[in-house]
Amino acid sequence: MIIKDKEFVPYLESKRIQETISQLASRINVDYAGKTPLLLAVLNGSFMFAADLMRNLNIPVEISFIRLSSYKSTRSSGRVKELIGLEENIFGRHLIIVEDIVDTGLTMRHLLNELQELGPKSLEVATLLHKSEATKEVIDLKYVGFVIPKKFVVGYGLDYDGQGRNLNDIYSLAN
Ligand code: 5GP
Repeated sequence: MIIKDKEFVPYLESKRIQETISQLASRINVDYAGKTPLLLAVLNGSFMFAADLMRNLNIPVEISFIRLSSYKSTRSSGRVKELIGLEENIFGRHLIIVEDIVDTGLTMRHLLNELQELGPKSLEVATLLHKSEATKEVIDLKYVGFVIPKKFVVGYGLDYDGQGRNLNDIYSLAN
């Protein structure tokens, strides 16, 4: 499969992805019984995962979409991304961040810190993919779909240069 100038090979089939999401949702249904969690889906990449995860939840649940700006800091500490699009008052809410992939973990660390300051009652992460080898930050990821090696992946919401999000399966960059 060619996307733009790169070749990708099949990595995770849709059937496996859906089975795993169903298992994650079952855990959330149990863990949040009697509560009404608010899913915070991080755009753009997580839109498919968030939709399928939510379809599998049978507890009262709400969703809101957030985004991280691609603003780059001039400080030597590196990239600083700012949380945008959060309209709900999240004070006292049970939040579940829904992310497509955690790579180095820097994005998630930053997001967790920003959200924690707003006083949620609880804060957990559901990520479809986790490149654990690449993770630099110690983060407690409660709901992880697949732990994957440090390879670039596309499909099922994840893009390569804007394309490939429409694929039902996930593909990894060919060697
Ligand atoms: P981190 O701060 O954890 O290194 O970066 C996480 C973000 O990088 C993800 O939200 C995603 O946008 C992007 N990313 C990391 N690895 C991949 C990958 O393999 N494929 C795609 N499409 N995006 C990735």
